[in-house]
Amino acid sequence: MHRLLPMKNCPLCVKYFIIYLMQSIQAILQRLYDTHRNYSEGHPATYIPELAKADPKKFGIVVTTVDGEVFKVGDFDTKFSLQSTSKPFIYGLALEDLGREYLHSKVGVEPTGEAFNSIVELEKTTHRPYNPMINSGAIAVSNMIVGSSFEARLQKIMNLFGDYVGHLVTVDENVFESEKQTAHRNRSIAHLLRHFGVIDEHIEETLDLYFKQCSVLVDTQDLAMMAATLAAGGKNPRTHKEVIRSDYAKDILSLMFTCGMYDSSGEWAYSVGIPAKSGVSGAIFGVVPGKMGIAVYSPPIDAKGHSMRGLKVFNDLSQELGLSIFKGHP
Ligand code: GLU
Repeated sequence: MHRLLPMKNCPLCVKYFIIYLMQSIQAILQRLYDTHRNYSEGHPATYIPELAKADPKKFGIVVTTVDGEVFKVGDFDTKFSLQSTSKPFIYGLALEDLGREYLHSKVGVEPTGEAFNSIVELEKTTHRPYNPMINSGAIAVSNMIVGSSFEARLQKIMNLFGDYVGHLVTVDENVFESEKQTAHRNRSIAHLLRHFGVIDEHIEETLDLYFKQCSVLVDTQDLAMMAATLAAGGKNPRTHKEVIRSDYAKDILSLMFTCGMYDSSGEWAYSVGIPAKSGVSGAIFGVVPGKMGIAVYSPPIDAKGHSMRGLKVFNDLSQELGLSIFKGHP
């Protein structure tokens, strides 16, 4: 919490400011929860049949500071699959495995302005995914994860998420099977990537690894801890383990900022102003660098795949706490 403070050298000011800040954040979260809990637009994702079973009323908000303070309201311990909120972390893992030069010879760093599962940009000029935050880029990145076998590569991914959240995580096998059976679009993306030489011949194994990472189970507290780890330059605020090098954490945040909210990334940068990533299970996490991680879970999503309550909470929170990275100190 002390890293949030503008007046570190006055102990009494610090003490009272901390108490004030903690009460304010908790009160704001409670108010946002109460304001938006009855909002009823949007529906849980249906194109992965298992996700359609989610309870649309579930709603959790968690803020975790880089010092490990946690503020939470609502259904913060309801489990959900990461879906695309896994992408920034797997991108970081591939950076550590292969370095920037190789990775970005295969996957770019430009926003697409297209839907998360778009295939059209692969057909355009470069024949490589525009960035690692969309499906084509994430499938290419999954193909790059180094390991002696599928199991070893999966274990590496599970260990990574375990380090980010601070405890062991598991895969929701029902979500995994459900996506695997219905992933015709992702399968065609993978074949096109193979056609253009972006990935190797292990197409089904690559897809399985991608579906597994999307099916990792967390709750909103876990996701906020993952966000706070990125906010803290790659060090988990609770365990103090360095999960990712700080320069790679910076790379992740840069791409989250420009590409993390798919074809709403520009609007998000303008209105909320922090690096963020959403997933079709109804999760959104945001990172205020050097300060805090924020996660919201609420399954009803809009046409672009973003949690509708999540969008509202982030917009309000950004205004109330002055979170935009262009605004100076929150
Ligand atoms: N597993 C999902 C897919 O590939 C992730 C999409 C998302 O969360 O945006 O379609």
